[in-house]
Amino acid sequence: MQQSCDFELVSAFLDGEIDHSLVRPLTEHLRECEACRQLLVHLAQAQEAVMNAFLIPDPESLTASVMAAIEADEAENPPPKPTPVTFQEIIRTRLVRYGVPAAILASLMAGIAHYTTVDEPVEKPISLKQARDAALPDWNGAAANGH
Ligand SMILES: [Zn+2]
Repeated sequence: MQQSCDFELVSAFLDGEIDHSLVRPLTEHLRECEACRQLLVHLAQAQEAVMNAFLIPDPESLTASVMAAIEADEAENPPPKPTPVTFQEIIRTRLVRYGVPAAILASLMAGIAHYTTVDEPVEKPISLKQARDAALPDWNGAAANGH
């Protein structure tokens, strides 16, 4: 069964947001379509990279402030500088290249915000010696008599 490429569907699939009835046709398409497989890999990598980078959960205002800073800087220093490339812009460029709308990028960012706002209980770290003493109460005695 030949099916046309639907990059939005691939992206939604990665987010687990596609209709259940579409999963099988899409996975069959992915099996046959190199382009869509590559898109899936790129999106997954981008998503993971974003999570790892702990991005500010408001990329739009960040981009706006960066642009404002660049414009202010250019006003004071007319000689051209290389345009700073933010992590967001790299990802945005990559996604746009595949025709993925900004809405998907936004939902991706919202997903990251969810991950970064989860409060995990911070366990007090114990020293290696404490761990060793707990696991092997007679470690010190054994070591002393170990020769
Ligand atoms: Zn395809």
